[in-house]
Amino acid sequence: MPTLDAATLLLVITVVDVFACVVWLLLGEVLRIAPRAARRIALYHGLLAIVWWPTVPAGLEPLVGLPVTLVCAGLLTAGVRGLMRLRHQLRDVVAVVLVGLAAHIVVYPDLSAARAVSNVFAAVLALMAGYDILRGAGFRRAVTLLLVVPYLVLAGAALWRAGGLLGWLPPGLGLAGLTTNAPLALLRLVVNLSITTGLVALVLQRLIARVRHLTRRDPLTGLLNRRAVEEHLQRLQQQVDRGRSHAVVVLDVDHFKRINDDLGHAGGDAALQHLAQVLGEALRTTDCFGRLGGEEFTLLLPDTDEAGAVLVAERLRRLLQERPLTWVDKIWPMSASFGVAAMRLGEAHGLDALARADAAMYAAKARGRNRVQRATEQGEPA
Ligand code: GH3
Ligand code: MG
Ligand code: MG
Repeated sequence: MPTLDAATLLLVITVVDVFACVVWLLLGEVLRIAPRAARRIALYHGLLAIVWWPTVPAGLEPLVGLPVTLVCAGLLTAGVRGLMRLRHQLRDVVAVVLVGLAAHIVVYPDLSAARAVSNVFAAVLALMAGYDILRGAGFRRAVTLLLVVPYLVLAGAALWRAGGLLGWLPPGLGLAGLTTNAPLALLRLVVNLSITTGLVALVLQRLIARVRHLTRRDPLTGLLNRRAVEEHLQRLQQQVDRGRSHAVVVLDVDHFKRINDDLGHAGGDAALQHLAQVLGEALRTTDCFGRLGGEEFTLLLPDTDEAGAVLVAERLRRLLQERPLTWVDKIWPMSASFGVAAMRLGEAHGLDALARADAAMYAAKARGRNRVQRATEQGEPA
């Protein structure tokens, strides 16, 4: 059976890098998926393909190959950060690359030391990328740890190699370069493929999160839509059945038709966005705020009884009254009617509580609008 020599493996690695470079460019520039991160990762693969191309003269390694490899390691870490939505924080990555390049210049005539320096800094950058994935990937713990492994292997191999180059390891234990060491080249190929697979998984996760966001949000206000509210209600009902007490508030803008008639449909839309922003800012992060449709909204208040929910609704009612809508050159006072209901043990999916809060809201309308009505005050048993 023919054995794979280092040169062949290096050629395979390079072809994989060229392919990965093209795929990331397509993802970023054509499909507009995480374009900034994709550009960095494409550049990482592209530059690596150039410096590792088997026909690049060996004499260029210290002057071009090593510094570019270091920049590549920085690009990979920066790309990972972009995918982790930490794209604005790159100062430490740039600093490590710059210090690495400076150290390289200092030791330059000594090729072994230059290689060691480049390996040490590449290891630091790989560890940073691994740490970012650990921090930012939204996968289950075991999957996240699996994604981190190639970065740990990369860092470990680089540090091992640096130790060998500096003569800190017994002779024979140090790792030679990729061009002469087939097992090391094979390891690099496997690590490369694992890193690429992991990055693709992160992109897919981002896409799924985006689609999920789109299917759960109301496009006008950015609040949860009815479907997401109902899902949330179902979860809350399960908690109520285990002994917790949650409340539901339904609110409807008063005389909204007049806003549309006087300010136009765009003014009406602006009023809905205004309400979402003003009330949204006043809620706890654990509260869930959704738009049921038209000018009707709901608040799901965890660990709140009916009396507590009435206080919240009253506070929001006043807040909305105090913050009129400004539209073009008009100031338009807004108010809403609120219905409040506590969720009850053994009800179906929490929808019963939503219906009770809705009925209470209509009772508030009937009693003159701009008020809070609790469900238990209109013939509902407590
Ligand atoms: P009430 O005080 O009894 O609630 O009166 P109202 O005028 O607020 O209620 P009504 O149900 O009569 O009118 C609601 C209007 O809201 C009718 C509908 O055209 C408008 N509407 C529903 N969805 C939207 C939207 O997304 N944008 C805008 N601009 N208007 C909307
Ligand atoms: Mg209305
Ligand atoms: Mg309505």
